[in-house]
Amino acid sequence: MVVRSRICHLWSTAADANLLLGPTALELAIVHSCLIVGGGLIGRSVAYYLSRAGIHVVLVCEEDPARIQSAPTRASLGVLTRPTAGLDSLSAFYRLSHELYDPLARQLAEETGVDIGWTACGGLEVAYNEQEALRLRAHVSRLQERGARCQWLSPIAAAEREPALALGMIAACLWPQDHRVDPQQLAKALWLGALRHGARHHPGHVAHLDGTDPPAIVLETGEKLTADTVVLAAGAATSALGVNLGLAPRAVRSAAGQSLQLQASVHLQGIVHWEGYHLLPTSTGDLFVGATNDPATAYDLSDPVQPTEQGRQELLEVAERVLGHSCNVVQHNAGLRPKPRRGRALIAPLQPPGYYVASGHYKNGVLMAPATGQALTAWITEGDPGVDMTPFAIER
Ligand SMILES: Cc1cc2nc3c(=O)[nH]c(=O)nc-3n(C[C@H](O)[C@H](O)[C@H](O)COP(=O)(O)OP(=O)(O)OC[C@H]3O[C@@H](n4cnc5c(N)ncnc54)[C@H](O)[C@@H]3O)c2cc1C
Repeated sequence: MVVRSRICHLWSTAADANLLLGPTALELAIVHSCLIVGGGLIGRSVAYYLSRAGIHVVLVCEEDPARIQSAPTRASLGVLTRPTAGLDSLSAFYRLSHELYDPLARQLAEETGVDIGWTACGGLEVAYNEQEALRLRAHVSRLQERGARCQWLSPIAAAEREPALALGMIAACLWPQDHRVDPQQLAKALWLGALRHGARHHPGHVAHLDGTDPPAIVLETGEKLTADTVVLAAGAATSALGVNLGLAPRAVRSAAGQSLQLQASVHLQGIVHWEGYHLLPTSTGDLFVGATNDPATAYDLSDPVQPTEQGRQELLEVAERVLGHSCNVVQHNAGLRPKPRRGRALIAPLQPPGYYVASGHYKNGVLMAPATGQALTAWITEGDPGVDMTPFAIER
């Protein structure tokens, strides 16, 4: 009864109530409902794929996902880089997510009219002195060993590809399989798509996950929501919410990162990588540069991440080094990357049954969002994720 009344409470429109109150539909709702905690890219992707599979999804986060996007989504560059041909499960998962983007972009455009800016633009990695060239060679050979496709270009050929780059390049490597996507358009489209398939937003800050059967979450207001399944996708806040479900307190920490949107005085063909930073054209014709890398710390709700003057200077210097001239800042963003232990996201069932976690995507949340949504959907609806999820298990 608790499940019934709670689920009815979650769908508030008359159409929804009708959908859920017929005897067969009610049964379906009990079997097929899911609460998702967190409206970042991961929560939205899970919401999209689950609702598409016919699951009644309620996305729980404070802000309306149609209006507000999470700070990491706003700061993110949307670089999808260097897929490898590695046979291990982790490489296969990255590759799968890369491959999902092409059909997903078309599907979302059809369903929502939103262009997510997915572009097979390629990437050029450059070095301006001997030390940088040494590091670049070592980095390229590591990736080549794992089957990444790349091609060395002469400095002249590299300058022909990207004439806007500063003079003096001494080594350059082309990554033809690099892609990019617009994270904010992606977030918008995933949520519009989920809405179209019947997902709903429930505003609220989750205080804890109940650890009960049926699965439940409790909001700070004391309100309790119940469904068949709960997916915890709260980004850097995940550990604190999952402790009574077997998540270690430091399973996911937070690592701040910043990016700048710059007024473009030049045009870039594709992504430019330099010493771990990326420059790329935005879908509005500006340039992005990022990202800074702060050390990981425990998540602190009372201390929201802010852009800093130091981060701004660091990124302006990068842009000036690579473009050879100074740039004007249009926007400066900062977000917390959810950093997992041992470098692999947590995408796994929790205990007791009915709870799942999808977090810790760190620097690859945009890249991994489609495969995370798809795998969790298969896991929840069919009992099998369809791909080897061992790398993302809780025990590590
Ligand atoms: C500067 C920067 C550049 C990046 N560039 C790239 C890139 O080029 N390519 C790439 O693949 N990745 C990139 N990333 C990483 C990527 O952006 C993140 O991995 C991804 O956005 C994380 O998504 P998430 O949904 O897990 O977390 P978040 O976006 O943090 O979402 C978590 C959600 O949970 C909600 N929440 C938290 N606590 C609660 C609670 N108690 N109750 C209710 N809701 C709660 C939050 O409000 C938020 O809506 C970048 C990140 C940064 C910061």
